[in-house]
Amino acid sequence: MDKLFAKQLGKATRPDGEVDLAVLEQLVVAAYTQAERDRRLIDRSTALMAEELEQLNRGLEQVVEERTAALRDREARLAGQNLLIDTAINNMPQGLIMFDSDARVVIFNQRYLEMSGLRPDQVRPGQPLIELLHLRIAMGTFAGDPDQYISQLLAAVARGETGTVEFELAGDRTIAVTNRPRPDGGWVATHEDISERRRTEKKIAHMAHHDALTDLPNRLLMRERLAATIAEARTGKRAAVFCLDLDNFKTVNDTLGHQFGDELLKCVADRLRACVDPSVTVARVGGDEFALILPNLVHSADAAVLAQHICETVRAPVELAGHPILVDTSIGIVIVPDHGTEPDELLKHADMALYRAKADGRGSYRYFEPSMDARLKARRALERELRQALVEGQFVLHYQPILNLESNAITCCEALVRWQHPARGMIPPAEFIPVAEEIGLIVALGEWVLRKACADAASWPGNIKVAVNLSPIQMGSANLVPTVIGALASAGLPACRLELEITESVMIQNTDATLAALHQLRHLGVKISMDDFGTGYSALSYLRLFAFDKLKIDRCFVNDLSHDASRAIVRAVTDMARSLGMITTAEGVETAEQLDHVRLLGCDEVQGFYISRPQPLAAVHGVIAAYAPLRAKSA
Ligand code: C2E
Ligand code: MG
Ligand code: MG
Repeated sequence: MDKLFAKQLGKATRPDGEVDLAVLEQLVVAAYTQAERDRRLIDRSTALMAEELEQLNRGLEQVVEERTAALRDREARLAGQNLLIDTAINNMPQGLIMFDSDARVVIFNQRYLEMSGLRPDQVRPGQPLIELLHLRIAMGTFAGDPDQYISQLLAAVARGETGTVEFELAGDRTIAVTNRPRPDGGWVATHEDISERRRTEKKIAHMAHHDALTDLPNRLLMRERLAATIAEARTGKRAAVFCLDLDNFKTVNDTLGHQFGDELLKCVADRLRACVDPSVTVARVGGDEFALILPNLVHSADAAVLAQHICETVRAPVELAGHPILVDTSIGIVIVPDHGTEPDELLKHADMALYRAKADGRGSYRYFEPSMDARLKARRALERELRQALVEGQFVLHYQPILNLESNAITCCEALVRWQHPARGMIPPAEFIPVAEEIGLIVALGEWVLRKACADAASWPGNIKVAVNLSPIQMGSANLVPTVIGALASAGLPACRLELEITESVMIQNTDATLAALHQLRHLGVKISMDDFGTGYSALSYLRLFAFDKLKIDRCFVNDLSHDASRAIVRAVTDMARSLGMITTAEGVETAEQLDHVRLLGCDEVQGFYISRPQPLAAVHGVIAAYAPLRAKSA
């Protein structure tokens, strides 16, 4: 029985045990009423709660909606930003790759893939750097030890240092990698292709250190290498330095023009390169000057072997403008450290040895010797004294009479200059004319000779001419014609009594100016002779350019007349000269036999010790007079 009903039944039971039904009904109805009231109350509060919950839900939904909208908004903005960053990093000229603090890839761009030669599927976020480096080694886009590279890189990142490493790769490529640490312990690596910049820099550096014509190292680089060689010599290693120049290069340049001069230099450069192994520096240090540095010299004599080989190699004919050209080279050699331990000192000594090689006969080599230093000093002193000599009037002229074989009379005297040195006595021209030419004194000295010779000749009897030697340098001087006119005028000597002797080298250098000067002199009435004929280049073609009055056949042919060949040459020259309307003089006739020979061979004139040695002016008159009776007799 329900507990409540049991309770109500109990209350409605009277003491006699009878149930009062009215009371029970009342009690049950009251209970129902109360229950109904309670149920309504609960219903109402449930409805209230449900309403509140719904309200709460609606609020939450709104919040969620708002938040979701904000998130979407942020997401859209982030996507936009990502797109921007993506576009930016994929369009930058540098390759970019970012690593985290564990040296693993975070992001990278397209350019990084291109520069490292990797495919997109070979690189991924989270990949360790070491793996990337091995892939790149396989592609040839990383050079070096990857473990060492990483450990140095991580150390720099840990110190917060930005560093750049350059990788020289195959195919002349250079990649510069800059690693910039990030605050989170990782770093960003930018890869820049600097190949073009490095190539340009290398080109500029090459140009600064090499000669443009031959591409050989220039003086600057040669000196750097020489300094390094000297430093090595301190560790006991010996070396040799050659100073080398081409004999007669100037003549080629002047005769054939600079273009062919350049061709010749290039050819010589190639030959020099071919003579040595790559350890030897071959440099062009001046116009026709070269220098060689031979490291690791074992025996001094090895340098001589190479020098000899070079002389022979360079000497081979070079075909220029259709002509085979022969150019000799002379070489001065110094041994490091025996002959010096300073670049300037070594080069000076090598120059002295070169100078000696040239003086001793071109196309050869000489080692430096300490006595050369003394000789160079002597040479400088000679130059000083020579200038002084002209000022102080120490030059004198001797005259060598020239005999005409037809008239048996002295028809000309050649003026030959001598230097009356206050201490050393009479110095022959061969010792000072070349020096005077080198220092440019020859122009003033030549003018003095011309004036003095014309003045002296004015005192000679009859129409006896005076022959004056002209240096090629005087021929090149614009003042020559006025000087000749001045000398003739002040001496009062008719132009037809002056002969000017030039050498073949003048004609080889035939510039328009030289020819014009010769024609002007001829126009004045001055005679022009070709001196020492047959000893120069003997390119007979120049005889067509100018009609000489006289060919002086060089002494060497006259000396050698016992040989058929020399006789044939002299005969050919006299025949040729006659048919060209020129007369011939045999130089250096020392014996009666030679005189007979040259007479038979058709020479018109003779000059030589047999007739007379060169004489001081005062003695010339005697020689002239001595031949006069002969002339009278033969007439
Ligand atoms: P060169 O013009 O050929 O003069 C002839 C040279 O031969 C002279 O020498 C003369 O002494 C020498 N000689 C003449 N006959 C004989 C001989 O029978 N036997 C030998 N062994 N030698 C003989 P020198 O006077 O010593 O002159 C040498 C050269 O110096 C000249 O050769 C000439 O080229 C040059 N020279 C002389 N004077 C002058 C000058 O005033 N100006 C210029 N530019 N050069 C000069
Ligand atoms: Mg002469
Ligand atoms: Mg001569």
